[in-house]
Amino acid sequence: MTAPNPAETNGPGAPNEGGPARDPGDRPAGGDPLTTRLIHHPYRAPEGFGAVPVAVHKASTVLFRDVAALRSREWCHKNGYTYGLHGTPTTFTLEERIASLEGGRHTLLAPSGLAAIALVNAALLASGDELLLPANVYGPSRELARHELAAWGIAHRFYDPLDAASLAAAIGPQTRLVWLEVPGSITMEFPDLRSLAAVCRDRGVTSVLDNTWGAGVAFAPFELGVDISMQALTKYPSGGADLLMGSVTTRDESLHQRLKATHMRLGLGVGANDVEAVLRSLSTLALRYAAHDAAARRLAAWWQTRPEVRRVLHPALDGSPGHAHWAATCSAAAGLFSVVFDPRHPPARVDAFVDALRLFGIGYSWAGPMSLAVPYDIAALRGEAGSVGGALVRFSVGLEAVEDLIADCGQALTAL
Ligand SMILES: *Cc1c(COP(=O)(O)O)cnc(C)c1O
Repeated sequence: MTAPNPAETNGPGAPNEGGPARDPGDRPAGGDPLTTRLIHHPYRAPEGFGAVPVAVHKASTVLFRDVAALRSREWCHKNGYTYGLHGTPTTFTLEERIASLEGGRHTLLAPSGLAAIALVNAALLASGDELLLPANVYGPSRELARHELAAWGIAHRFYDPLDAASLAAAIGPQTRLVWLEVPGSITMEFPDLRSLAAVCRDRGVTSVLDNTWGAGVAFAPFELGVDISMQALTKYPSGGADLLMGSVTTRDESLHQRLKATHMRLGLGVGANDVEAVLRSLSTLALRYAAHDAAARRLAAWWQTRPEVRRVLHPALDGSPGHAHWAATCSAAAGLFSVVFDPRHPPARVDAFVDALRLFGIGYSWAGPMSLAVPYDIAALRGEAGSVGGALVRFSVGLEAVEDLIADCGQALTAL
């Protein structure tokens, strides 16, 4: 390839909004060593490339037109760019789309769902404060509270998510933040979110929902009265089992500004290629969510007919804990459910069943194209009080043909 002739392009100094504005022809006179020419190249792409997707803008450095622009631009405003960590057209676009998906006004992106959880805690809690978590909270969130938050002088307590009175009783004078989650991690209890959010509001405590399961599809979180909605974009918004990202969405301006300041000070950036992948996947989010949901309900219904099984925990199934709350809140149910085996099948045999599955991968996370199965020892995770009375397997239903998934579970049961 030959270097473009500046005369044939729009050339150095042509108006090029958004690009480096200084005329490369302004370079100091003198030598023109190769490395300088490689950096200060004269080519300017033509204006106005029209395409459906937003471009993958990558940056640490963002160039300013001149020193006055550098001095006047504020990183905290989205009407200009200052540094890659503070946003690019690509990240701003994803933030806007997640905010509109969730019915919020502002979104911040974090490098993982767990980083988004940590961001909320770091922004809104200080030494001496107390945090409340549902008893069935996402495990790593509990570990963060037990270790780093405890070391920083932030206490935590648990409440029963199926009992709004238990939450009201747990809120004390030092309580500053309440995490809500639907459904409960692994055990799938579906709380009455509206009542829990109302308790927080009445008591003047900020509520934050881990909305990874709902993904902005199953229900509108802010309509239920929560202050903040956090998501692991790793799950349904990505849908590819290929990247990690989190989001924190708010309606309230002052809450957003507090979160944003901490976000900046912690340096939580996300990679442009990952943002692009989420943007690409978002357009099929509702279709994929519906497909995961339909397949999971069929597989869960099949499990209900199996004599090996004591209970199927799926919020859309009558008899699953909190089913009535799910029915009152949601129009869909994602692709997750858990099966509790009859206690006559010891955990080692249930492990053998999982090993015998051919289409289900054995691995963490969910919402990707491949179905996954993970056995959990709930009593070991949460103590005897949390026990579900038998070995539990959590299924994440992918996008394979559900008949094949049913047949796979059927053949693997012989290993019990
Ligand atoms: C996966 C998950 C997270 C964390 O997301 P990562 O991107 O894996 O850190 C948080 N909450 C829930 C409910 C999740 O399922």
